[in-house]
Amino acid sequence: MTVVTRFAPSPTGLLHVGGARTALFCWLYARRMGGKFILRVEDTDRERSTEEAVRVILEGMAWLGLEADEGPYYQTERFDRYRRVISEMLKAGSAYRCYCAKEELDALREQQIARKEKPRYTGICRERTAPRPGVEPVVRFRNPLSGAVVVEDLVHGPVTFQNAELDDLIIARSDGTPTYNFCVVVDDMDMGVTHVIRGDDHLNNTPRQMNMLLALGVTPPAYAHVPMILGPDGTKLSKRHGAVSVLQYEQEGYLPDALLNYLVRLGWSHGDQEVFTREEMIAAFDIHDVNKAASAFNPEKLLWLNQQHMVRSPPTALIPHLRAQLRRLGTDSDDEQLLEGVIVAQRERAKTLKEMAENSRFFFSDDVRLDPKAAAKHLTADGIAGLGKVRARLAALKEWNAAAIHDALNTLATELQVGLGKIAQPVRVAVTGTAVSPPIDATLALLGRERALARLDSALAGT
Ligand code: GLU
Repeated sequence: MTVVTRFAPSPTGLLHVGGARTALFCWLYARRMGGKFILRVEDTDRERSTEEAVRVILEGMAWLGLEADEGPYYQTERFDRYRRVISEMLKAGSAYRCYCAKEELDALREQQIARKEKPRYTGICRERTAPRPGVEPVVRFRNPLSGAVVVEDLVHGPVTFQNAELDDLIIARSDGTPTYNFCVVVDDMDMGVTHVIRGDDHLNNTPRQMNMLLALGVTPPAYAHVPMILGPDGTKLSKRHGAVSVLQYEQEGYLPDALLNYLVRLGWSHGDQEVFTREEMIAAFDIHDVNKAASAFNPEKLLWLNQQHMVRSPPTALIPHLRAQLRRLGTDSDDEQLLEGVIVAQRERAKTLKEMAENSRFFFSDDVRLDPKAAAKHLTADGIAGLGKVRARLAALKEWNAAAIHDALNTLATELQVGLGKIAQPVRVAVTGTAVSPPIDATLALLGRERALARLDSALAGT
């Protein structure tokens, strides 16, 4: 059997970390099993679905690199198909027209509530044969009246629902439009989905969907309802906790692989391994191993993983990410050698690419503004005197590389009988604008002789 999974977001909101994790589990399981991953946009709720949300979902999926083998499908483009299935079901008797008026249903509901019963449709129109003039009927699914549905959930284990508890679901509204649960059923059937992996807020829909699939003559897929992600304080994950669009993480300088790595570990583990590449995730992931306890979102751990991925990735792989961040700061560079050098010098010193870009701006832009505090502390009369000597030594270097620069500064410090820091700090402030940077020899080497000396000259000239 070829495994077919699908991620089926409703474009009524952002693609946030919860949705991204569901998408990841679907994608990983399909990849692991050599199967197929489908993207399906569930846009039947026309009032709440927006083009903007669709765009954000597609962009988010692209940024995460969760490429689909099929799709995106749009439910709104499949209405003809849903209507055909509805008329087949009407013919077969597995669905019926319901002419009950809203007032009747409201009255029924009130009586049930008064009797402390669960409000449900009692099937009044199951046996009604004649249409009621002037009433546009809805169509209901004829749910079995007795017996039970057992969802053999891959995460939760068997969950039993009594058919007596499930009333006859409306599958088409009076204007003929199909309803959400029905579209899901037809899609899962038509698309040959073998494993439905989704949030456990959908577990209650599952017995109805299974009954409809059985009525349509198909074997329901396997289901895996994954628990939600909670905020660090144990409450539902909200915007305040970072339940923002995954694209926000891009802006904040996270690597997609780090976010995926973080998300895969929410509810799933593989020994005590924490850091996974995409390939390692694919090789190790199994939906059967996901556990049912909700997990809490931990931004600190995500940050830690991001740095782990920054340090472990080939430096050149980070270049496009760093450039995107530099552009946000109004600068850029296509000097691959410089970009790679900066990445190597900075990746242990920053937890995100945004932070790396902010700390590295001076490598790419000659518009260096001196931090007044750092200048006041290090560009004193003494500091400037030392800077002059450093400039002379550096200008005389035959080769401009970190080792040669290191030697020159060390020799000068020894001659002047001062610590290296004493002469390095004024240099650092002069060339970077701040008192913090990668080691001064590496920094000067990366900047290049011309730019480094020009910056020392500016500082010496007091500009
Ligand atoms: N469209 C649903 C949602 O966004 C998912 C439904 C499903 O996966 O079956 O929550």
